[in-house]
Amino acid sequence: MSKKIYFGTNLKMYKNIHDTTAYLTELAALTADLSPAEFQLFVIPSYTSLSAASQSINQEHLLLGAQNMCWEEQGQFTGEISPLMLSELELGLVMIGHSERRHIFRETNVDENKKVLATLDHGFTALLCIGETAEEKYYGISDEVLRTQLKVCFHNVSPDQTAHLWVAYEPVWSIGVNGIPASAEYADEKHQVIHQTLHEIFGEAGDSIPVLYGGSVNPGNANELIRLASVDGLFVGRSAWNARDFNILIRNAINARNT
Ligand code: PEP
Repeated sequence: MSKKIYFGTNLKMYKNIHDTTAYLTELAALTADLSPAEFQLFVIPSYTSLSAASQSINQEHLLLGAQNMCWEEQGQFTGEISPLMLSELELGLVMIGHSERRHIFRETNVDENKKVLATLDHGFTALLCIGETAEEKYYGISDEVLRTQLKVCFHNVSPDQTAHLWVAYEPVWSIGVNGIPASAEYADEKHQVIHQTLHEIFGEAGDSIPVLYGGSVNPGNANELIRLASVDGLFVGRSAWNARDFNILIRNAINARNT
């Protein structure tokens, strides 16, 4: 059996409850024939849509995630969402450290580490996002930045928890409307650094952590990226927010990977 590949999207602060459930229902139907043994699909909607979203689809086929989570279970944390609250929604996944959390809301690697540990403690899979800024790339310190992010964010995570870790490599300069997609060569180089660092941190257990590429993935570059042995999946923003377009991108990428 070939290695499982991952395709997912973060809906950010787009799509209300109605639009989210319509999107999920359509995407689940379009991709229903793809084998869950070889293919993992996930969608990360807004908090306010999560309850309706979890009732609208079967998560064995399409995993739902939260965009962020507080490391504390309860207390004086106005505006935050507790792991206990997310547990009520039967989610599988929590995204930690998206570039917008780090750069707009000033979250640090130490914050992300607390969130990763809380995510694992509460039985979720953590999708940790990492990536260097344009400035860090300019100064030639991208590898050091990625290694630091992994080492701090996964501090005190044990090798027997790695089955519940996913990593998304999303260079900050490649994300969103002003993003420039990374070339396949550049993505491959950085994915190799990430795989090596995961091995350094967790030993052999680190080798099975999936590493997804994200940042301006589109129909023009998805196939080339997914053909790379170092890329275990694609984390797609804008090009995934129409279910039919995402389904086509996924199918073309699976074909490209298999040929
Ligand atoms: C993202 O925001 O994580 C992302 C990958 O977005 P886009 O694909 O639109 O660059």
